[in-house]
Amino acid sequence: MPTDSAIALTTHVGQLPGVGRRRVATLENLGLRCVADLLRHLPIRYEHEAAEQPIAEAERALGLAPGAAATLTVQGEIQAARLVRGRRSRFEATLSDGSGSVLLTWFNASWMQGRLHPGACVQVTGRAKRYGDRLQFVNPRWEPLTPDADDTTPRDARLRPVYPASEEITSRALDQLIDRVLDEAVTLLDDHLPDDYRRERGLLPLDVAYRAVHRPADRDEARAARRRLAFDELLLLQLGVMLKRRHRQQTLMAPALERDDAIDARIRTRFPFALTESQRTVIDEIAADLVTERPMNRLLQGDVGAGKTVVALYAMLMAVASGHQATLMAPTELLAEQHFASLSNMLAGSSVRLGLLTGSLRPAERTALIARVAEGEVDLIVGTHALLTEHVAFRSLAVAVVDEQHRFGVHQRATLRAKGHDDTTTPHTLVMTATPIPRTMSLTIFGDLDISTIGELPPGRRPVITRHLPEARSGEAYTLVAERLAAGEQAYVVVPVIDESSAGLKDVTTHLEMLQNGPLAGHRLAALHGRLKREERDAIMTRFRAGEIDTLVATTVIEVGVDVPRATVMVIEHAERFGLAQLHQLRGRVGRGGRQSVCVLVADPTTEEGHQRIAAIVESNDGFVIAERDLAIRGPGELFGARQSGMAPFHAATLPEDAELLALARRDAVAWVERNPTLGGEADALLRRRLLKAHGKRLGLGDVA
Ligand code: ADP
Ligand code: MG
Repeated sequence: MPTDSAIALTTHVGQLPGVGRRRVATLENLGLRCVADLLRHLPIRYEHEAAEQPIAEAERALGLAPGAAATLTVQGEIQAARLVRGRRSRFEATLSDGSGSVLLTWFNASWMQGRLHPGACVQVTGRAKRYGDRLQFVNPRWEPLTPDADDTTPRDARLRPVYPASEEITSRALDQLIDRVLDEAVTLLDDHLPDDYRRERGLLPLDVAYRAVHRPADRDEARAARRRLAFDELLLLQLGVMLKRRHRQQTLMAPALERDDAIDARIRTRFPFALTESQRTVIDEIAADLVTERPMNRLLQGDVGAGKTVVALYAMLMAVASGHQATLMAPTELLAEQHFASLSNMLAGSSVRLGLLTGSLRPAERTALIARVAEGEVDLIVGTHALLTEHVAFRSLAVAVVDEQHRFGVHQRATLRAKGHDDTTTPHTLVMTATPIPRTMSLTIFGDLDISTIGELPPGRRPVITRHLPEARSGEAYTLVAERLAAGEQAYVVVPVIDESSAGLKDVTTHLEMLQNGPLAGHRLAALHGRLKREERDAIMTRFRAGEIDTLVATTVIEVGVDVPRATVMVIEHAERFGLAQLHQLRGRVGRGGRQSVCVLVADPTTEEGHQRIAAIVESNDGFVIAERDLAIRGPGELFGARQSGMAPFHAATLPEDAELLALARRDAVAWVERNPTLGGEADALLRRRLLKAHGKRLGLGDVA
């Protein structure tokens, strides 16, 4: 295909000049199929590239003074290359371009052997010094020059984009490819933002932005370009979320529940303590939703131990008081059993009919229970998420509570909706989480949730003290445990695996034996993990609660829900292997009574991220602070649960850095949808097309816009 023939945004990369079949496969592996994909393949950063010059000129420019040095870029052909062994081995090569030659030296770089050989054409950039009568580059950056490159003319100094590349294709090669299509491709772009709107917000036109992001004149231009592209991504997402929210509010209905003083008083007598002010506030927020026919879609966030359960119970009892059903879904069986036990306690002597649905029920029991739920003979049913969503049809479900959202993918939130009486009826939904969504993220895919926050802990709690010990000093942790046990308190020891593993990790069985025969001799230890049968687990938990067992050596099954106030010390082995949210959850198992609790992290982190996680958890007890740190350390991709929810992180936008831009996009999206609820009409047609393309499937906008 001749170079002057027209391209379209949809032109396949294989039709571009000089792109052969193997290159096509390589590009496709990077997700680059057509010209538009190349445009959207944004640089990860820019490098200042020194102007490239002939070697003779570079030598003259550097001058003859001994010790003179400068950052230079030259290119040419490798004449000789060899590995020089010795106390400090080095790899040496000579590069020549006809005007002169330079010496390239890499120290401790035996890996260079075989990668650079005589005849190779390369470009090198680095610090150059005079060495004898020649220039020497020490440890320069280098890249091969592709033989088909038509750029034999030296380049000017510029900001050079560095692209996400792969083993098979260099950033430089991508640069050359993008260079070939850029000028023409940007002329094909229509802007979906109206000119006035764009100018008011200081956003570049789309074609200018795409050109500048690949070929910025300077850093300011690069920044302005990225800002425009990031804004687009954030605006499209916000528009999608707003359209969806509007759709849900206008087409779906939930049962409107009653609430008056008598009902309120009746519910409150069930709670064995006075509610905190925070709990009262969030109950009012939730109740205000429940009395309307608009389906509630609310997130209840509150730190570990903040007392979310009674808030959920309040909402569920409002459903029961109005003659409907409610359900509480937990991520694990253990947690479902505990919720059931504590709700049974609080509801003892009331007329509320409770059910517990877990995988441990015998088939006949399960069938009978499911039938009673369908008949409306059970008012409040607790179970694991999987069982409730897959097998149960309710007679009249008004409130669905999902506990510990961070364990579920975002997409699972919607599944219970279908269980109303018909297509347009849906329960009010309350999602509870102890891993708060950082404020910046709460505006993104979680943007169609209303948020209630329990901002205080029940009175009398003392923050847990957290310490970090290296593995070599883990003995000190157990000295502390032994002291606590001697004082009549209880302990958790968390290890990553159940059985001995090849990875050299501590496991429940071996570690328990070691403790029992060593530092905790004479104390009553028991193992707790997910492979025990339900009866065994129940028995162990009951004995632990009763104080007949001192110490649980457990896997992360105790991460959620376990509530034993006398447990005041926790040791987490191999703490570097756990995520931040998980460590915070685990730690939340202690500090539940009035006594000062301690959490010891035994860890030898080997990565920078590991160090940061341990530091974060030692420094803060506040789930909100930890969630923000988590976002900063891991980036938004994982918080989105990208794999689970099909939510790709952005190309141009980054969070939390773009928080301000996100707030702007949010405001604009709200106003936009108010003005044009379906994005109908000529003026918004392009925007609407781009929105459906970007988020149509992911957000299920098919029937919305
Ligand atoms: P989480 O928010 O982690 O789910 P829970 O609902 O399990 O917290 O509550 C943690 C503990 O605090 C429980 O033992 C619960 O009974 C107790 N609790 C909750 N609210 C209060 C309160 N207002 N006053 C005293 N104790 C409370
Ligand atoms: Mg809880």
